[in-house]
Amino acid sequence: MHLNPYGEYAVLLAASLANDWPEDRDGIAARARELGMTMTFPVGRDDYAGTRRVIDDWLKIVDAADPNERARLLNAEMATVTAYPRLTDHDGEGWHLHYRDDNDALPHVLRAVISVGTALHLTTRGMHRLARCEAGAAPGDPCTNVVVDVTRNGRQRYCSIRCANRAAVRRHRARAVAARE
Ligand SMILES: [Zn+2]
Ligand SMILES: [Zn+2]
Repeated sequence: MHLNPYGEYAVLLAASLANDWPEDRDGIAARARELGMTMTFPVGRDDYAGTRRVIDDWLKIVDAADPNERARLLNAEMATVTAYPRLTDHDGEGWHLHYRDDNDALPHVLRAVISVGTALHLTTRGMHRLARCEAGAAPGDPCTNVVVDVTRNGRQRYCSIRCANRAAVRRHRARAVAARE
């Protein structure tokens, strides 16, 4: 797989898995392909539960709003799973870098590409560009989705148009109530 300079595909893959958790192991592999990973993974018994642990650990990074804490968690992840960079040209992808050893197990590869990709994304685009959807911060709102902000202006706060609209309606109602009082 390619690690592009911004780590974008890997961090988008993590968010996709977090926001829409697949029903089975093949669903995870299919999602990885959709998001641009061309390699095939050997089937392992721990693939499904292991990948769930990868995503749960990644969500701790998402929920760490303080940049120092975020960096500490990411550094710990990378320390456990990444290796020195290696040049590789597998699957006809052209020469690119891997930041991991040759263990091809699905959870291992995902943990490596997601941690490095998230680190690249945050350091190149901004440490704040990873958060939960802001609509979910309102009391009683059901949205727990993750927003990876890859926009040019860096102001994406909602996971979807639906959430943006719901938040706008709430603001409008709050203003109407304030105006009456
Ligand atoms: Zn590769
Ligand atoms: Zn949302």
